[in-house]
Amino acid sequence: MVKQTVKKAAKKPAAKKTVKYIYSFGAGKAEGNGSMKELLGGKGANLAEMSGTLKLPVPPGFTITTEVCTYYWNNKRTYPKTLQADVETNLKKIERETKKQFGSEKNPLLVSVRSGARASMPGMMETILNIGLTEKTIPGMIAKTGDPRFVYDAYRRLIMMYSDVVMEKAAGIEPKDGEGIRKILDGMMGDLKKKLGVSDDTHIPAEELIKLCAQFKATVKKVLGSAFPDDPMQQLWGAIGAVFASWNGKRAIAYRNIENIPHDWGTAVNVQTMVFGNMGETSATGVAFTRNPGNGDSHFYGEYLINAQGEDVVAGIRTPSPMNRWSANEHSKHLPTLEKTMPKVYKELDKIQQKLEKHFHDMLDIEFTIEDQKLWMLQCRVGKRNGTAAVQMALDMVKEKLITQEQAVLRVTPAQLGELLLPAIDPKAEAQVKPIATGLPAGPGGACGKIVFNSADAIKLHEAGKNAILVREETNPEDIEGMRAASGILTQRGGMTSHAALVARGWGKCCIVGCGELEINLSAKTVKMGGKTFKEGDELTLNGTKGWVYNGALKMLEAGEGNKNLVKFLALCDKVRVLKVRANADTPEDAANARKFGAEGIGLFRIEHMFYGKNSDKPLFILRKMILSASEDERKKAVNELFPFMKAAIKDTIKAMAPYSVTVRLMDPPLHEFVPTLPEKQQELAKALGISMAEFKERAAGLHEVNPMMGHRGIRLGVTYPEITRMQARAIFEAAAELLKNKVKAVPEVMIPLTCDAQEIVNQKALIREEYDAVVAKTKVKNLNFSVGTMIEIPRAAVLAYEVAQEADFFSFGTNDLTQMTFGFSRDDIGAFLPEYLKQGILEADPFQTLDQRGVGMLIEHAVVEGREAKPNLKIGICGEHGGDPESVEFCHREGFTYVSCSAFRVPIARLAAAQAAAKDVLAKKKHK
Ligand code: PEP
Ligand code: MG
Repeated sequence: MVKQTVKKAAKKPAAKKTVKYIYSFGAGKAEGNGSMKELLGGKGANLAEMSGTLKLPVPPGFTITTEVCTYYWNNKRTYPKTLQADVETNLKKIERETKKQFGSEKNPLLVSVRSGARASMPGMMETILNIGLTEKTIPGMIAKTGDPRFVYDAYRRLIMMYSDVVMEKAAGIEPKDGEGIRKILDGMMGDLKKKLGVSDDTHIPAEELIKLCAQFKATVKKVLGSAFPDDPMQQLWGAIGAVFASWNGKRAIAYRNIENIPHDWGTAVNVQTMVFGNMGETSATGVAFTRNPGNGDSHFYGEYLINAQGEDVVAGIRTPSPMNRWSANEHSKHLPTLEKTMPKVYKELDKIQQKLEKHFHDMLDIEFTIEDQKLWMLQCRVGKRNGTAAVQMALDMVKEKLITQEQAVLRVTPAQLGELLLPAIDPKAEAQVKPIATGLPAGPGGACGKIVFNSADAIKLHEAGKNAILVREETNPEDIEGMRAASGILTQRGGMTSHAALVARGWGKCCIVGCGELEINLSAKTVKMGGKTFKEGDELTLNGTKGWVYNGALKMLEAGEGNKNLVKFLALCDKVRVLKVRANADTPEDAANARKFGAEGIGLFRIEHMFYGKNSDKPLFILRKMILSASEDERKKAVNELFPFMKAAIKDTIKAMAPYSVTVRLMDPPLHEFVPTLPEKQQELAKALGISMAEFKERAAGLHEVNPMMGHRGIRLGVTYPEITRMQARAIFEAAAELLKNKVKAVPEVMIPLTCDAQEIVNQKALIREEYDAVVAKTKVKNLNFSVGTMIEIPRAAVLAYEVAQEADFFSFGTNDLTQMTFGFSRDDIGAFLPEYLKQGILEADPFQTLDQRGVGMLIEHAVVEGREAKPNLKIGICGEHGGDPESVEFCHREGFTYVSCSAFRVPIARLAAAQAAAKDVLAKKKHK
């Protein structure tokens, strides 16, 4: 029976599904829509949405899907068989809509070719404008526009872009820094402007542009070895191929690696009718944001250039004019706004931006062109913003009822929140000095470091653990890794929407652009500003919020302090989240700090930390005596000596955290680490113990362990030396009793480390209980309560969680040790092999930073289920380093944890991550309904 079916199926092949590789848009229609980002890329999907759904003025065009990119790379850079015919059919469609013809001598259609991946990759990939201009079509364009200057300006741009993108980059030619074809042609144009005595491209007359284009073509042929193509179809296919090729260009790969964008997504290609912002004084082009991406202010914000094409704004060659008064800055406040120069178009654009925000419920970044007073929308996408702006917008949009609270918490990434917690210049120090130069405030916050002039040096300095300030004329996408490595970026050219500004903002990096007074000498590695010449390695401080540059290193402040929006936003997170957030803190100062960040208790107080740092000399000396004791008597003496110190440390910390709970973990010291190595310290200790140096050495040698991480530590210490557990329990209970007497709420949670079997807890609990009874009898404090729980750090304890939970009041996952013991990777020695594991893709991430959800996570899941089966209300937390890692926090939420605990400065991030995890739940449920 089965066989027959198979045979039948084999005879009758399934009907071949024809794959649709191209989606058209324009004239109020579209084959795709905004939800098709995977297939059409962000740009293509939104062009379709703007045209088809919102009926906005979008120049007609079509999108070649990301599937073609995948095909191209999987099939030795070839296209699906039907693609050529599909492109021709869709080109015809545009011709019908625009009533122009591609390659026509009389009425030529020109197109642009732009990349557009699923995730925006600003400046990483290619754009080519004015495709279709040839010796044959140029006269037709001149006849139609009556403006030879405009036509030859468009032609020189085409030659510049095409030779750079298609003939050089896509062809795999890698010229030395500064020797690429684009630089050469730029240089020729610069020379011409100098010769003519003009500063603006638009002032080069037509006859000079005609000559320049001829020189450009000759230079292209000479430098690259082939002629600039004069056939429109050849230009079009060259451009399409170059966009697909650029997906795997060096800088695009580097950007994806940094941003964690999968390499197999591919890019789409958008072919679209050209509209011209460079057709004279009634034309313009611009980039705008529906709200200010630098500070979150809710006014429409943007820049435009009269008589220019889009690349001029982004490239930062000319200083753009402000869209309206809200967009003016130090450099542009004297320039006329679009609101004034073209009021009707401005009004239309303003209406469109409002419509877009309402439709997308988010801040959008839009590109537009005005061709002879007619407005065209070229792009819209969710706008990148820095942390300050993200928080401001999220709060405002909730107020405006544009988004819900759940959507609002998802609008700020943990990294963006981190920016608000980043350093800034100490205002007191800043008030005493004057800036030596000013530029545009492209990325807020402060940075201070040594000057470097190229990406490689920024990376080198960063790797050496030093702060670099990357100084460039302008950044280009090749600088991406250097920009990432630098603490701050300073450029001579560029506007708020230039590449450097966009990228820096996306990362929340301190950045100043358009600092016109810089005189950079790349070969000498010097920069002149404020009358001083700085060399490589000299120090600068940047105030990226204001755009001010200072000589030398100013004092920096830890950020986050006094930021009202941060407080409001975190309060919103607290409303949405379910998980509690505690801190790992070991001193009253840590506890106070953690409370400032919003911690709701201490999830891990490591007692042994009182033996490090401030005021630790005395207790450490006693601890060492305790460790080196040879008899119970000796040990008891030392333990009793240690008691008052321990009680004080515990009491002060509980008091600092009251009324929230403190989980006090019993000592988990790696014993050998506490044996002194300095001879004078050894002698001092031997004397205190009343033993000879020979005996001291013998005892110290006896403590040596082959594998201390799995040795005599944690609960094992309490099992072998019950007096140590007893003393700690007594210290905890007496501290709590004294606080209660003073009306300070104190409910200590005693936590047992490194448990592997329920019987260990039974053993320790008996001692703890006896001490508790003794303290109550002694202090007569009746309302002294406590609980005893355990850390889950050993796989066996996780596996046997049902038994363990019967003896424990709570679980706290110690994922540092649990990861160590699950992987069998020593947490102290992983550096020797982890980089190779990551490089070879064996592991995706460092499991000590991001919880290994598949392996360690499976143990945790099992332990949670079993633990709660034994005790339905079992309190469950995490106190390993993962407690502050956003992905791991989300995991803890999904598993139904009660709280996460992390270092104080990560508490805000954990509050956000917990809120985001809860918000996702709520939104998913709504979607389901
Ligand atoms: C852990 O192992 O995750 C833990 C919190 O304990 P420690 O780091 O002190 O070993
Ligand atoms: Mg541990």
